[in-house]
Amino acid sequence: IIKDLSHLEKREVLGHGNGGTVYKVYHKKTSSFYALKVLRLNENGFGIRQTAKLEADILKRVDSPYIVKCHAVFDSCDISFVMEYMEGGSLNDVLRIHHRLSEKVISVLGRRVLEGLRYLHGMNIVHRDIKPSNLLVNDKGEVKIADFGVSHVVEGRLEGNEYDAGTCAYMSPERIDPERWGGENVDEFAGDVWSMGVVMLECLLGYFPLIGAGQRPDWATLMCAICFGEKLEMPEKASPEFQNFVRRCLEKNWRKRATVLELLHHPFVS
Ligand code: ATP
Ligand code: MG
Repeated sequence: IIKDLSHLEKREVLGHGNGGTVYKVYHKKTSSFYALKVLRLNENGFGIRQTAKLEADILKRVDSPYIVKCHAVFDSCDISFVMEYMEGGSLNDVLRIHHRLSEKVISVLGRRVLEGLRYLHGMNIVHRDIKPSNLLVNDKGEVKIADFGVSHVVEGRLEGNEYDAGTCAYMSPERIDPERWGGENVDEFAGDVWSMGVVMLECLLGYFPLIGAGQRPDWATLMCAICFGEKLEMPEKASPEFQNFVRRCLEKNWRKRATVLELLHHPFVS
């Protein structure tokens, strides 16, 4: 539908990420809004361009109600992605306003993220960056997975050219410390399940769950909490179903962690 970037009028900045800036844009011909993600290409331009092209290739193949749609990619000076506009912003924005969410809402949200992951994993795609800012909400209140900035196709050739992964807060133990927690033939899909578990617990608590309220930890503290933290911060009133669901996601040993298919049958989301 969108043939040229010049057909899009920038209206406002929706947010900034590691890779670039996201704008709300208006397309006159179809009188509709889109989100335009523009990636800055600096000294490391080549690597980023390669990664972005890989991202674009992935995005073109992806078509699911649980994944934010990418309508077009323009590769000129910058690389620009024309995406479905998600009116409600990210889960980060939602949490900033509502502080915490009810189990009922988290159950619906969790179900959608699981469906999205089932779809991606079914295409052999590991997301690798599931976190609140990459879960977007539209005006119907539907949550969708966005942003394949660091995702890659399993066995893809461009693994070395990842963006700075930014925050590691949602990374699984086996990704942070592969020597200790990985072992042979790590199932990379399990990392997405871990991240989803952290996000869901954060939604109920209202703060990042692995290090306690109000802390802004350094990298070492965070790494210790993820890889060695024994106690899981759990709201007292959390239902047994919720607690079990999250514990199954936050199993440090990826071999014992629940899979997406198992979790789709879990009572908390069904
Ligand atoms: P990172 O670079 O680590 O992924 P990020 O997810 O915050 O961090 P971006 O993906 O660039 O960075 O997104 C920045 C912000 O723009 C998001 O947090 C979200 O609020 C907003 N945003 C992104 N995509 C859309 C969209 N399709 N519709 C509406 N808002 C969006
Ligand atoms: Mg993002």
